[in-house]
Amino acid sequence: MIPYSVIDAHCDTLTMLEPGQHLLDCPKHYNVQKQSQYARFLQVMDLWVDKGEHPVNDRVNHYVDFYRQEVERTPEIQTILTREDLVHYFTCPTPQNPAWLLGIEGGECADDSLKRLQELFNQGVRLITLTWNTPNEISDTNLVQRTENPGLTPYGREVVREMNRLGMIIDVSHISDAGFQDVLETTEKPIVASHSNARRLCPHSRNLTDAMFKDLMKNGGVTGMNFCTEFLGGSEDLEQIVRHIEHFAGLGGIAHIGMGSDFDGIDELPGGIRGTESLYRIFDRLLQLNYTDEQVEAIAWKNFYRVFSSVLPLAEAQ
Ligand SMILES: [Zn+2]
Repeated sequence: MIPYSVIDAHCDTLTMLEPGQHLLDCPKHYNVQKQSQYARFLQVMDLWVDKGEHPVNDRVNHYVDFYRQEVERTPEIQTILTREDLVHYFTCPTPQNPAWLLGIEGGECADDSLKRLQELFNQGVRLITLTWNTPNEISDTNLVQRTENPGLTPYGREVVREMNRLGMIIDVSHISDAGFQDVLETTEKPIVASHSNARRLCPHSRNLTDAMFKDLMKNGGVTGMNFCTEFLGGSEDLEQIVRHIEHFAGLGGIAHIGMGSDFDGIDELPGGIRGTESLYRIFDRLLQLNYTDEQVEAIAWKNFYRVFSSVLPLAEAQ
């Protein structure tokens, strides 16, 4: 067994499976067998949608059903729906099977109405990335800004408040810089950038500037390190991921760094990383660099745990 506990806040495997493949043993960056090697491992399982390509609600309904089927056919999987589920998973003294939390990448899923957001919550969705690359009714994105006001729309602000109320985790990876600020101004709960690195080291709009990261720190939020070589920059191996961690840590942000691999949403992986099975190598490397056990645990799972446990709904409230 690999002796680390982990929360990985983003992978795209669910919507990348070919017919007949299953999350248990698919030949992908992520599968359940790889996840099961760790002491405890919560994978945020994302359902990716893009406004341009599909009737969004049909696609979401299809994949929510598919996710449920995958849960049923993988009895060892625990699903995280409430704060109690999460706390039990990470504090129970006996070894735990791997866990999933269902997320949607693309606020298009709730373009219709706040009622749709409630439906998705009822179906088990607990995290929404407010935009993917295409602007939607909530906000413009960090790739495309349509207007002079590229931040949250009035409806987008309502979505943020409703997600706070329901107990859904707000994810700002992909949103425009203006939208990022608007979310921080609107939310009453900590937020995440599930898969975004340091723009200072790799000047890509998908990454966070130092100022954005400091604002995220004030909110109590966390950003997950993305393994996509395009968002890492420089020499493309595991050291590059460590560099982004060190940069954010150097800003006093050790309590605000996590893992957001983007597995199966990216083509090329950094040298030394083959998939979920290699995540431990980053933690080993941090220990070698004299990070303490506590600091490595914070980055591996405790930081995201803090945010998730303060946002997720209480069981009795459902
Ligand atoms: Zn993404």
